[in-house]
Amino acid sequence: MNPLTIFARRFVAGERPPDAVRVGERLHAKGIKATFDKLGEDVLDREAARRATDASKDLLRLIPAGIERNISIKMSSMGQEISRDLCLENVSGILDVAREVGGFVRLDMEGSKLTADTLEIFHELRKRHENVGIVLQAALHRTRDDVREAVRRGDRVRLCKGAYKEPPEVALQDMGKTREAFKACAHDLLDGGNYPAVATHDEELIAETIAYTKAKGIAPSRFEFQMLYGLRKGRWESLVREGYNVRIYVPFGTHWIPYFYRRLRERKENVLFVLRNLFS
Ligand SMILES: Cc1cc2nc3c(=O)[nH]c(=O)nc-3n(C[C@H](O)[C@H](O)[C@H](O)COP(=O)(O)OP(=O)(O)OC[C@H]3O[C@@H](n4cnc5c(N)ncnc54)[C@H](O)[C@@H]3O)c2cc1C
Repeated sequence: MNPLTIFARRFVAGERPPDAVRVGERLHAKGIKATFDKLGEDVLDREAARRATDASKDLLRLIPAGIERNISIKMSSMGQEISRDLCLENVSGILDVAREVGGFVRLDMEGSKLTADTLEIFHELRKRHENVGIVLQAALHRTRDDVREAVRRGDRVRLCKGAYKEPPEVALQDMGKTREAFKACAHDLLDGGNYPAVATHDEELIAETIAYTKAKGIAPSRFEFQMLYGLRKGRWESLVREGYNVRIYVPFGTHWIPYFYRRLRERKENVLFVLRNLFS
């Protein structure tokens, strides 16, 4: 690893696929699931999109039997910004490999300029593939409708707040309102969705999910919590002890800067962590 990567290490499992798989094995030993993400986004040439596609196929084959072959991918690294057809072809190929190895592929959601197109790609893929899910961002004004549509279609959704800076026309700007929107979307998904993933480190939202599902008699086996590698490790383990499914998003690779930057922007404690390491 280059020296700068030391600072990203808290959030990134390493540079190579085996580094991520080793983390997955350690999690598995504790009863925690993983989704692996080879970092990369905004790819603008076909050859790079092909390499990202091949890397995802190799990753699916590399994850050892016994650990769920679950990966997360970004459409912008698969050629979305070059051509929709290219992206569809690349992602279909990944889903074919996922089917061969009994795997599952989650399409991460990126900035709002890609939301509608990502959902269209997802719906197209869903015509031929069961083993694919989507991410919806509670902060976007459109998301409650997207959630209802996903429930109607039986799509597997990961619900998160949304990590990208968006204008007020597109997204809520206030944390309180975003939390309320998250709860409303989570309720829809927990009531009628297909194994939703509640992806947050926010204790208010975790506690609310637990209270809501208990009150409604929704079994813990019908949904999962998801968190990011490096954040709230103690909470992963306590949720597992309480009987909940927990999956950790395990990013790896050399293109970690945009991912790292989003984590720093989210929380001042993450910046303090990096600064402490810088001066120690
Ligand atoms: C598994 C997973 C996948 C994701 N995928 C996507 C995606 O595809 N697209 C996308 O846009 N975004 C994605 N995100 C990021 C997400 O949208 C948020 O930006 C990110 O999770 C921060 O929001 P939060 O709800 O976790 O809590 P925050 O809004 O960061 O924090 C709110 C509160 O939560 C508590 N909290 C948060 N972190 C900690 C901590 N480390 N220790 C103690 N308390 C804490 C504190 O009370 C804090 O005030 C994903 C997140 C996860 C967990």
